[in-house]
Amino acid sequence: MLEVAGLHVSYGKHRALEGAGLVVAKGEIVVILGANGAGKSTLLKAICGVCEGSVAGSVRVEGRDILGRPPHEIVDEGLALVPEGRGIFPDMTVAENLTLGAYSDRARDEAQASLERVFKLFPKLRERRRQVARTMSGGEQQMVAIGRAMMSNPAILALDEPSLGLSPILCKELFQTLGTVRDAGLGLLLVEQNARQSLAIADRGYLLENGEIVREATGAELLKDPAVQEAYLGGA
Ligand code: ATP
Repeated sequence: MLEVAGLHVSYGKHRALEGAGLVVAKGEIVVILGANGAGKSTLLKAICGVCEGSVAGSVRVEGRDILGRPPHEIVDEGLALVPEGRGIFPDMTVAENLTLGAYSDRARDEAQASLERVFKLFPKLRERRRQVARTMSGGEQQMVAIGRAMMSNPAILALDEPSLGLSPILCKELFQTLGTVRDAGLGLLLVEQNARQSLAIADRGYLLENGEIVREATGAELLKDPAVQEAYLGGA
């Protein structure tokens, strides 16, 4: 379980987050929607300990406070980030990229078991384990990025714009992949531009406006909300 309360982030004089709070339980997908500049990436980065701004508030994983701790310790506490743009190494193989995800001492000891778990969840990655990452499709590369984050055996996975740059068909595959990860018992915190598809699979969603959470509801409720349709679903 991830619990965030009263999160404030400033970049110099600019206040990007003003007391944001949210909860993600294991086995649920939670999406954060917000306009450009609302603070979505800042929220994910601050939670995962990789934000450049000055951060205050409370971030707990399984009841343990992680705010201000170095990123590798946060990963060891069970929170892993799939960064925007995937960040995979194009000239390395799928297996090498996955293995890099097990970089902390604890994860390294369990790397073989973790690899087997990831391959079981994503059989395609096992098939392609010797393939050089840059020759994979965009959707497959995103799967590698998710698989790599899962190498630390996290309880919670945070994903920044995972559908960015994917074709509609690959987007559909990606959202299926996210469903598979949830069904494996992880909690997913998702920042997405693709509001329609992410709300369709989300258990809950939060709306972030000017650094504040202004609404929380189920994915289904948000999908049929006229204000959400107007702002995030092209008025449909
Ligand atoms: P987008 O959807 O456009 O990616 P976002 O909701 O993810 O937007 P953030 O990237 O979190 O928004 O940015 C929130 C605000 O903080 C913006 O005004 C942005 O310019 C500012 N900001 C983000 N990162 C930094 C930084 N490293 N230094 C200074 N200001 C920053």
